Amino acid sequence: MPQPRKQFAQHWLRSEKALSKILAAAQLQKTDVDGIPGDRVLEIGPGTGILTRQLLTQADAVVAVEIDRDLCVSLTKKLGKNENFLLLQGDFLTLDLSELLAPFPNFQNPNKVVANIPYNITGPILEKLLGTIAHPAETPFDLIVLLVQKEVALRLVAKPGSSHAGALSIRIQYLAECEFICDVPAQAFQPPPKVDSAVVRLRPRPFELTATDPRRLEQLIKLGFSSKRKMLRNNLQSLIDRDHLIQLLETQGINPQVRAEDLSVKQWVELSNQF
Ligand code: SAH
Repeated sequence: MPQPRKQFAQHWLRSEKALSKILAAAQLQKTDVDGIPGDRVLEIGPGTGILTRQLLTQADAVVAVEIDRDLCVSLTKKLGKNENFLLLQGDFLTLDLSELLAPFPNFQNPNKVVANIPYNITGPILEKLLGTIAHPAETPFDLIVLLVQKEVALRLVAKPGSSHAGALSIRIQYLAECEFICDVPAQAFQPPPKVDSAVVRLRPRPFELTATDPRRLEQLIKLGFSSKRKMLRNNLQSLIDRDHLIQLLETQGINPQVRAEDLSVKQWVELSNQF
């Protein structure tokens, strides 16, 4: 095992159980005898290749993006013979995937993401994969299965009223269906991270109610959650007159004393659309 590098948030997964849960959640297919096309997977941060090796047996093609040059050398030695494997060395956040994949027809437009990602860049990775409310990803993935910090997983799947509900919950749930798959204890990694982890599955889709002014919705969510203990009407004071907001909430059948974490995604969109 290579010495893990802190700057790249390297923690090697070593639990077979966690590995099989991730793979099961990804529901991978190879092209079958009837020609029904299989999956092309994008993996971010393959590390030592423990997950990559399994992905290669279960999917048509795997594109992996790894920032660490030394790891790329050993991954190429270990897995380079697989014709369905393409390794890109670089920073996932800054590289232009579709441009890099242009010369490789078999690897273009991956339809699923399966990865044990570096936790220090979880937010930016989610944004690159899903886009934002105002600019959703143009060609969304069918399915995204990620191993993330448990605290983040709980925020991604938080229902209204949950203590984990926050701006991230609303922004991501507007863009994708979010499911909690399973807990993964810190001991499942070498070295164990300071936090527990969890597997989540995201299914990008257009939200049931479209925001007529997505920028306004983003602004509302940001301000609405700016001070967690306060009532929504106080957090939104700079944007909308208090009495007017109370009136809007009441026409939506919402208690005017509501806090940001109590509103559902649909209620956020409705509120934004009424402005
Ligand atoms: N998937 C492996 C490794 C997870 S650790 C396993 O489960 O064991 C996170 C991995 O992401 C490391 O290999 C690290 O080098 C890589 N990484 C960190 N920052 C990255 C970035 N910006 N772009 C691509 N890979 C990155």
